[in-house]
Amino acid sequence: MKILITGGAGFIGSHLAERLIREGHDVTALDDLSTGRRENLVSIAAHPRFRLVEGSVLDTDLVEDLVDACDLVFHLAAAVGVKLIMEQPSRSILTNVGGTEAVLKAALRDRKPVFVASTSEVYGKSTRLPFHEDDDLVIGATRNLRWSYASAKQIDEFLALAFAREADLPVVILRFFNTTGPRQTGRYGMVVPNFVQAALEDRPLTVHGDGQQSRCFGHVADVVEALVRLMDCDAARGRVFNIGNDQEVTIRALAERIIAMTGSNAPIIHVPYESVYPEGFEDMARRIPDVSRLEQTIGFRPRRGLDEIIADIVAEKRARMAA
Ligand code: UDP
Repeated sequence: MKILITGGAGFIGSHLAERLIREGHDVTALDDLSTGRRENLVSIAAHPRFRLVEGSVLDTDLVEDLVDACDLVFHLAAAVGVKLIMEQPSRSILTNVGGTEAVLKAALRDRKPVFVASTSEVYGKSTRLPFHEDDDLVIGATRNLRWSYASAKQIDEFLALAFAREADLPVVILRFFNTTGPRQTGRYGMVVPNFVQAALEDRPLTVHGDGQQSRCFGHVADVVEALVRLMDCDAARGRVFNIGNDQEVTIRALAERIIAMTGSNAPIIHVPYESVYPEGFEDMARRIPDVSRLEQTIGFRPRRGLDEIIADIVAEKRARMAA
């Protein structure tokens, strides 16, 4: 198949592109290289079935041309990472809403299947665990710009489902839960690459608050596996899926594990949220996906646990530091 990946030079997009090339597909990556990186694509850059188009997902003419030329779209281009959202809120909102609108409208013309990346952030402040796809979404006040990301992604989901209902557009919505792994940058928050980099440089690992907040980290290789299987699954069309791992860890325990696995002498320090986000911040205490829908639909459960995730990121960063 001819597959378009918006955000194809990004963290998840580049891993997906490699996998699809390996499976024999033609892959076009659209990326403005704002947070995506050319170096993420070195292994396939010269492949005859791969091409990188440097451009914006907000460029509707370009998006139309690329969508017309493909059979299926993974729409992964987005402004992601709490730091980025807090530092550049209007740009993030416009990218996350306008980009999805452009892709969905282009896909509508020939009813191309579109996989829309959403996020576990849409569950917002919900405390009912684990989060199920049909649960209510509890998003915070507009005064706190953190929630703009969740709201933009919620609109993306609504728009995709509206086109599915009104025009039979085959859409699949992917709610990613704290996906991590090699190539993820720590620049925009993302705790695992941040902590690993700090540990390897013997710099302090800065835990926000008391560190009792928890997350479930999913390995990007598991996520890509789920995406590839969903691609071939007609029963997935028109539906929303949690994609991630349901193994929970507190941020304090994560820091300790990374110190233990790297043999680092770095200290773990706790910093108040106010010092990181002076304009105010609300963190989520716990976030666990219910992954039963994914399992029932494609028979998939994540295989890679936290230690494997940490080990892979450590190996990548050590190699990069040695280069
Ligand atoms: N966090 C932390 N130190 C860091 C980066 C993040 O303690 O240097 C915490 C953050 O406050 C949150 C968790 O780690 O509770 C996960 O943060 P991340 O930005 O990776 O993802 P989120 O789940 O917030 O989108």
